[in-house]
Amino acid sequence: MNERMLLEDGLKQLSLSFSPQSVEKLLRFSDLLLEKNRVMNLTAVTDPTEVVTRHFLDCAVLAPHLPAGQTVLDVGTGAGFPGVPLAILCPDTVFTLLDAQRKRVDFLQETISALGLSNCTAVHARAEEFAKAHRAAFDVAVSRAVAELRVLCELTLPMVRVGGAFYAMKAADCMDEVGSAAHAFAVLGAPAAELLHYTVPHAGVERTMVRLQKLEDTPDRYPRRFKKIQTDPL
Ligand code: SAM
Repeated sequence: MNERMLLEDGLKQLSLSFSPQSVEKLLRFSDLLLEKNRVMNLTAVTDPTEVVTRHFLDCAVLAPHLPAGQTVLDVGTGAGFPGVPLAILCPDTVFTLLDAQRKRVDFLQETISALGLSNCTAVHARAEEFAKAHRAAFDVAVSRAVAELRVLCELTLPMVRVGGAFYAMKAADCMDEVGSAAHAFAVLGAPAAELLHYTVPHAGVERTMVRLQKLEDTPDRYPRRFKKIQTDPL
């Protein structure tokens, strides 16, 4: 199967509805990513087939959790994961892609413009700084491969509104990490973690999504300075 067939079949296996334009945009994004990856470090994945499986189909699993009209923040998006594939697959959901590395955000701004993604903005900022002006500003937050949950939740949950949710994409064996973060979940206003296990189509990789429903406001003192978050995690 070529990349297009893998992508279309994988999206069907996930029971996602998608348009021919979405498939074109995803394949174009793969080209832009691999082209830029030759001159800067964006992803360890260099095979176009694995861009489809390990990046696009992995990220696509989140699409059914992001209703039209909602605002979604992707914390530590890097080269645009999970945010860019989701913005393509959910054109009526509004995405903010946040990253601390200027060059990656520059790449994302070029990509958003090249793909004509009107529902997506890339912002260069550290999450703990961005949170100061964006408390409870998003319906949903998402994040993949950024930090351990105790740290990640302090960076992210302050920006989710009460009634919203945070989806952290993790490895299949994240139970210890989830257990260690129980105190952080409670302190930050999202006490009950729900684990959603899945297999990425055509990759055969098992993964887990940690869903945290925000039930209460996060106390104003969080997030703390990054050094404090890291050296003294909740
Ligand atoms: N989420 C992407 C993925 O799954 O491919 C990128 C993962 S990359 C390993 C981690 C990214 O998180 C980096 O691009 C880094 O700049 C960003 N990051 C780490 N800490 C951050 C913070 N406090 N605020 C914003 N971005 C951060």
